Amino acid sequence: MTDAQRDEMRQLLLALHAELTGKTPAKIEPNRTDDSKVGGDEDEQPLNEMMQAIASSRNRNMDGVLARVVKALGKLRNDPDSFGECEECGDELPYRRLKAMPYVEYCVECQGKKDKPKGGPTRKKLTDYT
Ligand SMILES: [Zn+2]
Repeated sequence: MTDAQRDEMRQLLLALHAELTGKTPAKIEPNRTDDSKVGGDEDEQPLNEMMQAIASSRNRNMDGVLARVVKALGKLRNDPDSFGECEECGDELPYRRLKAMPYVEYCVECQGKKDKPKGGPTRKKLTDYT
């Protein structure tokens, strides 16, 4: 990976980080689409509740991503040479994959292996306790 590419990764990660934490970098014009300006008061409640549900489930999914974004940024800073390598097998990750997911940690192959259930402890059903 070239310095320019690493730089691009850093920009992508910083933008993602800003998006996920809600802290938009000062340079970027913030979106003025929230509360104060949006909408009248008619029929707003149900929609708001729905939006909140969506937002909170999205946040839950995003938590893991944020952690990985932070980790990737740390790696870029502390160990830039290893950035862009699969943490499992050490293969260089395709740049296209990194551009889509700059926080990605594994190559497609290793990710696939990790996603497969390993036959860990089975989840207890509620009925087991009755
Ligand atoms: Zn790998």
